[in-house]
Amino acid sequence: MSEAGLIYLVWSDLVGITRTRGVPLRDYTRRQEAGLGWACAGQAMTPFEHLAANPWGPMHEVRQIPDPEARFTIPAAGEHPAIHAVICDSRPRPGEDWSACTRTFYRNALAALEAETGLKLVAAFELEFLLDGPEFVPEAPFSFDAACAQHRFLTALEATLKQTGVGPETVEPEYGRGQYEVSCVPRAGMRAGDVALITRETIREVARRHGLRASFTPKPTPEHAGNGCHIHFSFSDEHGANVTSDPAGPLGLSETAAQFCAGILAHMDALIAFIAPSPVSYYRLGPHHWSTGFRSIGLQNREAAVRIMPGSAREPAVAAKAFNIEIRAADCTASPYLALGMLLRAGLEGIRGKLPLPPPADVDPAEMSEAARAAAGITPLPASLREALAALENDRTVRSWLSDELYACYLSVKTWEAEFAEAAEPDHLFQRYRHAY
Ligand code: GLU
Ligand code: MG
Repeated sequence: MSEAGLIYLVWSDLVGITRTRGVPLRDYTRRQEAGLGWACAGQAMTPFEHLAANPWGPMHEVRQIPDPEARFTIPAAGEHPAIHAVICDSRPRPGEDWSACTRTFYRNALAALEAETGLKLVAAFELEFLLDGPEFVPEAPFSFDAACAQHRFLTALEATLKQTGVGPETVEPEYGRGQYEVSCVPRAGMRAGDVALITRETIREVARRHGLRASFTPKPTPEHAGNGCHIHFSFSDEHGANVTSDPAGPLGLSETAAQFCAGILAHMDALIAFIAPSPVSYYRLGPHHWSTGFRSIGLQNREAAVRIMPGSAREPAVAAKAFNIEIRAADCTASPYLALGMLLRAGLEGIRGKLPLPPPADVDPAEMSEAARAAAGITPLPASLREALAALENDRTVRSWLSDELYACYLSVKTWEAEFAEAAEPDHLFQRYRHAY
């Protein structure tokens, strides 16, 4: 590889933004071990030009240390030079963990799952986004026309994602005006989070190269369809076999997977503060938007917060390989690492407590009577970031998964965002999030 140009050291912070510092490529080898310095206080950055109150002083610093396995290049195209980047872990010193690093949080949660159950997590993100630009004309939802109108972009996107090593599973127009979607290929462990980050940033860059702007904001305007970031996951054993299903189990789930889902449901309200974590997220969540409005689980149910997706093959053994669980409430204002890490911690808590699966919703929960919902333990999800943060403050178990500094910083940043939203004109609010994400 040529030594000319830059390489960006990147990391995903608490507000799910990929931040960076760059170094000349020729210096990269010498930077690899100790990375670059970064003020701890930087972890308190809001999505805007503001640093929230945080537990660190002006001397506290971490290193952004590259993970050689997470290096990627968005190749050159025409006048656009190649973009070299490497995903980092934030560490006080090489080899030491920082408890406020999102990627480390996820890695430790993966290790806990594997140590306690022998299982590996396999996950994939569905990324919905809005295209816009001076020449952009939205076409009919899901239409072939909407695909053909952006074919140059979509084809380049597919090729570029393949070259960055994260090849997409599907690429298509979505339901919303100007909305498109890329589904990631399922990957095990750390790679699942890295693929989500690389895919998201590659979509942005390829769009830019085509005179377009991609925004992953959960709700571009109150009228627009929401941009979800549904998270699919399954469990594999040491041989890589999908062991998520059991035909005799509830909703076809293995005993462990059922307990894992029960753990997620038990802590769902507090989890929402991490997986749908911006003020505009709550304009997306709600019944009848296929984004989910209720803390519920259901087989194939697009209105349930946790949707069970049995494989569609006729042969049961083949179907079992595709069996997966989908978390529909998530959006792209969440850090993929923090979202996966929190879901894992909740699931693990369910396994430890051998929690029983609550009764499933086999209709749209919004269509059930209040009594039927109450009988099934189906409750509305938090209706605002404030409500989600209150749920977090009230859930001591969820709080126990976070170090004091991570909890304090997260709460501070998110409270700032809630206050910002309360003071902002709605148009300004949507526009700021649309631009930041
Ligand atoms: N756009 C919907 C959401 O906000 C999801 C539509 C779908 O793919 O089912 O989650
Ligand atoms: Mg979709």
